[in-house]
Amino acid sequence: MTPRTIDTKDDDHQRSDLVIVYHRQPYEEVEEEDGSIRLRENTSPNGIVPTLRSFFADVDHGAWIAWKQADDPSNPGFERHIEIQDAFGRYTVSRLPLTAHQVREFYMVTSKEAFWPILHSFRERYNYDPVDWPNFREVNWAFAEAAAAEAAPGATVWVHDYNLWLVPGYLRQLRPDVKISFFHHTPFPSADMFNMLPWRREIVQSLLACDVVGFHIPRYAANFVSVARSLFDVETTGRMRVEDALINEGTALTERSMVTGLLHDGHKVTVAATPVGVDVGYIEECARKPETLARMQEIRDELGDAQLILSVGRTDYTKGGAQQLESYERLLESRPDLRGKVRLMHVSVSANRNMEAYAEIQSEIESVAGRINGRFGTFHWQPVALMSRAVPFDQLIAYYRAADVAWITPIADGMNLVCKEYIAARVDCDGVLVLSEFAGAAVELDASITTNPFSHRAMDQAIAHALEMAPEERAGRMERLRTQVAAYDIRAWGDAQRELLERDPGAQSKTPVQAA
Ligand code: UDP
Repeated sequence: MTPRTIDTKDDDHQRSDLVIVYHRQPYEEVEEEDGSIRLRENTSPNGIVPTLRSFFADVDHGAWIAWKQADDPSNPGFERHIEIQDAFGRYTVSRLPLTAHQVREFYMVTSKEAFWPILHSFRERYNYDPVDWPNFREVNWAFAEAAAAEAAPGATVWVHDYNLWLVPGYLRQLRPDVKISFFHHTPFPSADMFNMLPWRREIVQSLLACDVVGFHIPRYAANFVSVARSLFDVETTGRMRVEDALINEGTALTERSMVTGLLHDGHKVTVAATPVGVDVGYIEECARKPETLARMQEIRDELGDAQLILSVGRTDYTKGGAQQLESYERLLESRPDLRGKVRLMHVSVSANRNMEAYAEIQSEIESVAGRINGRFGTFHWQPVALMSRAVPFDQLIAYYRAADVAWITPIADGMNLVCKEYIAARVDCDGVLVLSEFAGAAVELDASITTNPFSHRAMDQAIAHALEMAPEERAGRMERLRTQVAAYDIRAWGDAQRELLERDPGAQSKTPVQAA
């Protein structure tokens, strides 16, 4: 069903049983030539947004709180609420009018310059000085107020990600009756790292006002618990053994047991680890389309007998793009036999171009890639194809299908969906995944070649191993990876979230919180 907006008088829309608080709107708005607004799917179709919208199918009426830039937030012409009807039902989108300045301060500065480096344990990149904390509080307060206004008595409010850390605490003051769940889409660091934030108590106090605090993997949950214990008197109310599917023996992010509940000031908080997955069915369908196969064939024809290594990510220091290119350079240096026999397609999508830290990484990547092509390239063979533009998802699937190796080596990554998409796309059960053990996905994907991006030797050996792997071993590993990715697909994550949201407030899980 095509999503459409429904005209309502601004204040007569229904209150909601489920309120999702997410900084982006559920659809992008495109202005047509005649001035009308069309709703369009967000550019990454496999992202989390469609899954979040699907939760509205379970309730009579839902609401979604997001921001929308407004030149003048007091302009009476600003459409504060729109009512959307799509395949999942009817829901209100409540848009907070934020000025460009507020967005810059809240998102680009506080979230990206102060929080992001700490979340990913890049202490040296942390920049405290420019943070306008009162603005961060104000924006979070506005989100909390909007959620409070939309929530029906006893509703569930589901808040997403670190840029809304203060929302639960404010919302608890405004609406003691609602159930609050918070999901982190990033890593959560250890107390040594997190407690560098001067606002640590305020943030954690807010999170302790939730009924459920969720993370991708047990390590992040464990880190949160240790941070909470370092700052407040909290009791732990349950512990479980981590299920086998999330134990990749010996890898850096694996935990063997985790605390499942905290008690603070008489309030119980469930702590959960539910890894986000991808839409396996949708990706498999795309992977089997004749257009995808035709594109895949074109790519393979272009390669001749060379192997294709594919690396896909955002241009971000957390993704380790330059370090990976340096490993490739060392490989070509030490293995002349591979020259002309291998190509790296390095997709590093520039987001946040206007931020200095990101511009620096971009030029570093360009410089290493240029150097490699200059040192080793010939008229007929270019060792690296570097792309800074986003590859549309359907094209990406064709590259996934064509690639002999997916080389995904972030320095830190909450989950990493690209590696799961690669596996889901390999309906032919071939291809090798080389994965950093500092990506959350590594705790699930034990048949990948895990590597340590901080070690030259580990990086260089892993890519060489992947290129040389025998077909039977490739198939065996990919088969296992495909089972793992299917078990924890996006629906499994959704079901685990539903179970957490529906649980009695404060009730603690006696059994492990599972995503499947
Ligand atoms: N993506 C894309 N085109 C690109 C690069 C990435 O559509 O050129 C999508 C990719 O398919 C994935 C998402 O962007 O769904 C990246 O998610 P991931 O969890 O790997 O990294 P994040 O950017 O969220 O840290």
